[in-house]
Amino acid sequence: MPVYPLNEIKKYFESSGPMEQLLPDYKFRQEQVNLTVAVSAALSDQEFLLAEAGTGVGKTFAYLLPAVLWSLQENEKVVIATRTKALQQQLIERDLPDVKRVIKADFTCAEAKGRENFLCWNKYINILAGKKRLQEGEFEFLQSVLPWAEQSETGDRKELRLKSALMKHWDILAADRKSCRKDKCLYHEKCFRLKMIKRLEKSQIIVTNHALLLSDVQVDNRLLPEYHYLIIDEAHSLDREAFDKLSMRFSSGDSMDLLEYLQKAYLPHIKELSSVDRELLGECLTHISMAVKLLKEYFSALNRPLSSKNGYEATLVIKAADLEKTWFLEALEIHQDWQDSINLLLKNLKKLEECMGGVEESEELSRVIISLQEEADHAYQINEEHSFQSDMLVWLDCERGKVKAVSSSPVCIASELQNRLYHKLESLVMVSATLAVEERFDYFLNKFGLSQLQEEERLKTLLEKSPFDYKKQAGYILLDDMPARDEPDYQEKLAGILSQIIDITGGRTLILFTSRQQLKDIAGIIRPYCEQRQVKLLVQNEDGGFETLKEQYTAHPRSVIMGLDTFWEGIDLKGDLLKCLVIIKLPFRSPDEPFCQAWEKYYQQLNQSGFSRFLLPDAVIRLKQGVGRLIRGENDRGAIVILDARLGKSSYSKVFLNSLPFKNPRVLSCMQFTQELKKWV
Ligand code: SF4
Repeated sequence: MPVYPLNEIKKYFESSGPMEQLLPDYKFRQEQVNLTVAVSAALSDQEFLLAEAGTGVGKTFAYLLPAVLWSLQENEKVVIATRTKALQQQLIERDLPDVKRVIKADFTCAEAKGRENFLCWNKYINILAGKKRLQEGEFEFLQSVLPWAEQSETGDRKELRLKSALMKHWDILAADRKSCRKDKCLYHEKCFRLKMIKRLEKSQIIVTNHALLLSDVQVDNRLLPEYHYLIIDEAHSLDREAFDKLSMRFSSGDSMDLLEYLQKAYLPHIKELSSVDRELLGECLTHISMAVKLLKEYFSALNRPLSSKNGYEATLVIKAADLEKTWFLEALEIHQDWQDSINLLLKNLKKLEECMGGVEESEELSRVIISLQEEADHAYQINEEHSFQSDMLVWLDCERGKVKAVSSSPVCIASELQNRLYHKLESLVMVSATLAVEERFDYFLNKFGLSQLQEEERLKTLLEKSPFDYKKQAGYILLDDMPARDEPDYQEKLAGILSQIIDITGGRTLILFTSRQQLKDIAGIIRPYCEQRQVKLLVQNEDGGFETLKEQYTAHPRSVIMGLDTFWEGIDLKGDLLKCLVIIKLPFRSPDEPFCQAWEKYYQQLNQSGFSRFLLPDAVIRLKQGVGRLIRGENDRGAIVILDARLGKSSYSKVFLNSLPFKNPRVLSCMQFTQELKKWV
């Protein structure tokens, strides 16, 4: 039994208590105790809790401890969902073992991951038996994986330590829904994914990631075991992920690949089998030719509204007015013909599958039938249903001036979560370092459809500020005479300011961009300058991905990272590793992104401003995440330099300024700021 029960949870934090005795870095923080007590109350009173806990509060332990005690006390499963697999791993390998030591009681916990993380025995054995011809690189990958595959207890790809050039072939072994033989699988007993499911069923604490949680929500809890208590960490990013997860896509490439595979590879291959009805096969080929032709015509009709404005990669939202336009009506008509030809094809393919009996090749045909059926279902729903629904957004995904796919997603995730998730939960805790805007939770409550629960007093909110002394630990500089981005001297001036900053800091600097193109342009100007000064410039995408850049940055004291999205919230550079954080622009999303267009459509229907209800608070949360990179510990020290004059001058600047943990920026000109910066780095 635990040393203290849930209602005495505060005792764990007391001086000379278990936390102080057993955790080397533990430091008492009242904010952490408050959050722990609030999470305990939410679980035991069957309430919902929305909690912002600033950097350094220790939110992970503050929710893990009550979650475990509650689970032990009530014999209930608690699901904990965090943003990434890396954070998931950290909970399993570091934080939950710490909880175990602190409470001096054992409990079961397991990691829930998507099936693509596990080796599929059926695929593996078929490859070893030579039933799949391996492409270049795949053979080398297989050789490297063999010893692991034979010994692994989990079959989880995270155990492999292979270079990315080899790991890119992982799919040849990965379990996947379409090819899974389910009950017919000869390796059912050994299946790594099924073993994971068994572990989840037996566990009290399940640690998953947002993506899997959302997939489970989407399929009405058929992936995870039944649960009624849920904690979502890093909850600020769930809406963006939910938008992607709940979206549907009909892609020209995927459908064409399937049809061409049948036409050019699969059907010619099975032609010689004695069980194959040649006449039926001939009919299939005729329907395929028709489906290929109609598919091309459909996508070419969708190309018509594109203009030269739609650059290399673009999205074009289908608006109500488009539904009357000739190009749309024509595309719709072709789509209906395409559906007819696909239905005939599917009917014949199923007959073919039946007459092939149990021969091995029919297994592959089943997989293709499922995939083709899925493509047709998506196409039908997007074209015939979602395009006409006011609560859905439909858009064209374009590349090099051509439509590559049609996609759709709900304009507001709230109703999906209300219908599929909240109603079955006894308690939900959503926690993050950045949920509130101007210390209020309205934005988050509205976005997630939780306002009603607050009115019914079933939801509480809690805001625990960071215990760090930002005033003493950080300089906060705003340059108020930076030109606007569209002014002719902007680029030159920006490069000049960044060079001055790099001169002063000599490295240990993180520069956050919002535009890929701008990052590329500025990196081109700054790079020779850095080389002359022996400063290692690490540019996202040019010099590597997130992990590579982080590794190199940590290894070289004179290095500077120039990064995009992932660096705004995914990097934790403690101590001396970061001296200066530069924000180039306020992180407003592009209003053309389907995600933003969806919110715009939603608020338009309510006669409200999409800018003030969504774009602005969203940018505030993202800026809070960004500035949160600088001070990660109570001994950290450094400076933030914000190069977007809108933070001081725009009509909405106070919303940003009132929301940030840093207060009262030193507003300086480009000529003056260096003296101030030198004081802090
Ligand atoms: S049950 Fe499915 S995932 Fe598991 S080994 Fe068999 S085919 Fe692969």
